[in-house]
Amino acid sequence: MENQQLNLDYHRIHNFNAGPATLPLSVLEQVQAELLDYHGTGMSLMEMSHRSTEFDALFQQIENDLSKLLNLPADYQVLFLQGGASLQFAMLPMNLRPAGASADYLVNGAWGQAAVKEAKKLGATRVAATSESTNFDRLPAFSAKDLDPKAAYLHYTSNETIHGIEWQAEPQPPAGLPLVCDMSSNFLSRPFDVTKFGLIYAGAQKNAGPAGTTIVIVRQDLLERVPPNLPAMLDYRLQADKGSMYNTPPTFSIYIVGLVLRWLLDMGGLPEIERRNLAKASLIYSAIDQSGGFYRPHAQADSRSRMNITFRMDNEELESLFAKQAKANGLVGLKGHRSVGGLRASLYNALSLESAQTLAEFMQEFQRTHG
Ligand code: PMP
Repeated sequence: MENQQLNLDYHRIHNFNAGPATLPLSVLEQVQAELLDYHGTGMSLMEMSHRSTEFDALFQQIENDLSKLLNLPADYQVLFLQGGASLQFAMLPMNLRPAGASADYLVNGAWGQAAVKEAKKLGATRVAATSESTNFDRLPAFSAKDLDPKAAYLHYTSNETIHGIEWQAEPQPPAGLPLVCDMSSNFLSRPFDVTKFGLIYAGAQKNAGPAGTTIVIVRQDLLERVPPNLPAMLDYRLQADKGSMYNTPPTFSIYIVGLVLRWLLDMGGLPEIERRNLAKASLIYSAIDQSGGFYRPHAQADSRSRMNITFRMDNEELESLFAKQAKANGLVGLKGHRSVGGLRASLYNALSLESAQTLAEFMQEFQRTHG
């Protein structure tokens, strides 16, 4: 079977890790080829100044490529920050929620809860709707009257990595209420309309590259809300004014994000990766749906994630055996998050169709021998 991830020259495994996660083989090969001598400089990208001509050119290229992929309007600015998406849970309210104002959150899983917890430490935070009572097996039900039109912003998590719940369309806030999204685990996996958002953030380590940088896309007018005298590293406006170079950025992570963006553009951009992601997800959901209850999906059908497919079996012993035998068959990273248990297959952009197919076949075979 042809498999981009299983080139005979390497030992590459079917990698279902939830993040950090699999990267495109061609990207890793390019990193390898450029490691000792980046573009004739006689040094690796890791060893050069972030203020060098080479890094400057690379950074501009990355900004252009991201703009192209997302059809980014001119009034949005892209930042490459550190501290992970977790730091954004705090930076967002610090910067965009004025003193005395409240912010609304729609919660559909553990990461939304974590965002609320941080925002609460810093000021008024309202959970406008949550699906906690059904153990985050679906999107929260809400209507316009549940939202505070005077809120500083409306926050949601487009894909909940642990529970495997994904919004198929963004929530519609009332006019004038900026929509903010933690897009960490489905950023760049499907097309979306940036103009619907006030701010988007995403840790790179799922679809965009390795850990180490967090991409923040912010509509420029919102930067006017940033209060004076925030610590420099936590100040969106300062980071924007300095082009993400107030201090030394994580150059190597940013470089690899750049290669991943190129890989996406070369294949045909977000419509093409969406087509591939749909095909992979449908293979695994079919294996679940056709198992007659042997595999039980966690997510309700209309809330299913294409990126993180969560499912359970009859008992934990069987689930452990599944993960163990899968590993022995070259399929790794299938154990569910420690907080919820069960099994989880993460099918990020760089996971090949062949890897998804191999998992679907393994699931059928495991059922045949243990069902
Ligand atoms: N939000 C989501 C949706 C995530 O999946 C994660 C990480 N798995 C985070 C936030 C936290 O990201 P980080 O580890 O980069 O702080």
